[in-house]
Amino acid sequence: MSHCPFCKKKIAMSKAFCSRNCKENYFQLIAIQIPKLFMKRINTFCSEEERETEIEKFAYRHKWRIDLLKNKIEEESIKLGYKETKKNEEE
Ligand SMILES: [Zn+2]
Repeated sequence: MSHCPFCKKKIAMSKAFCSRNCKENYFQLIAIQIPKLFMKRINTFCSEEERETEIEKFAYRHKWRIDLLKNKIEEESIKLGYKETKKNEEE
């Protein structure tokens, strides 16, 4: 057994992804590049509302799917230390 690299579902060894959708999402997610300055701006200077607007504009400008972009921003925010992981929030 192997795992789909996008949704982590179990798949047959002969397959690379569980579905065409996952394959497309996976490659689109890899293609998304978020500049450090943009990360800094939305995490430091923006209110929650402004943040949403900035992310929407950014997705539109690069024709990226908003949900994938948000996933990526979430990941990067934690990686860059702008956001604590959920575990830390509870402490
Ligand atoms: Zn999948």
